[in-house]
Parts: sequence; C-alpha cells; structure tokens
Amino acid sequence: MKIYPTSQKVTIKWFGVSQGERVPANATMRGTWGWDAVCSCGWDSRTGGAIRSSVESDVQMHKIMEHNYSRLPNTFVCSGCSKVNPALAMFPNSLCVECYALTPEANAPITARQLAQMWGGK
Ligand SMILES: [Zn+2]
Ligand SMILES: [Zn+2]
Repeated sequence: MKIYPTSQKVTIKWFGVSQGERVPANATMRGTWGWDAVCSCGWDSRTGGAIRSSVESDVQMHKIMEHNYSRLPNTFVCSGCSKVNPALAMFPNSLCVECYALTPEANAPITARQLAQMWGGK
C-alpha cells in the first residue's frame, strides 16, 4: 500500500534493533533484525524491535492519523455529500458535479475565472 502526503511531508528514520540496541538502518543489514522507526515530528514506534511489516503499518497509521496522509491518490472527498470522487471531477468549494449542480453559481452564467479555477488554477 502506498500512501500520499497532503499538507505536509515527514521523514521516517528506520532503526534495526538488536539486543535492545538501535542501529540506524542501512542497506547492508543482514540477518534477523527487529525494527523501530522515528518520525521527524518526534513520534517513535517504540516496539523494541518488531518485525518490519508491523512497524511499517504503525508508521503508515501514524502518517494517516497525525499527518493527514491519504491512501487515495487523485481523489477528493466532496464537501457536500462526502463521497469520494476522482480529483479531476472537483468543482469549486470541493464539490462533486452533482452537488455543484445544486449551487446558485452553477445556475448562473459561468465566468472565465470560475472555469480556470475548475481546471486547475487557484
Ligand atoms: Zn510524525
Ligand atoms: Zn457531492
């Protein structure tokens, strides 16, 4: 599973753990290591040396919960109906096409500025 940063990017530092000692992870680590990870915000997985996949899922949960990382690339959540939509289908104010169709703006003649906003301008 790949996750994606939204508002902020963080750096995760990995450590191999052997007999309670943390060693900064590097590519040449062989054998049976336990793992721990530390986030640039100060968060620490504190497993004392768990299997890598378990620490990885802790890290991903941490990124999702504390740093608003997302599992859904190229999507947005409509602010009207809360449905997940493809990012390309986003209308002003984070509305999906159905919700946008109900707004007063949608029923007024569209301006060039609104068009530009809709298609990627800010
Ligand atoms: Zn963090
Ligand atoms: Zn909607």
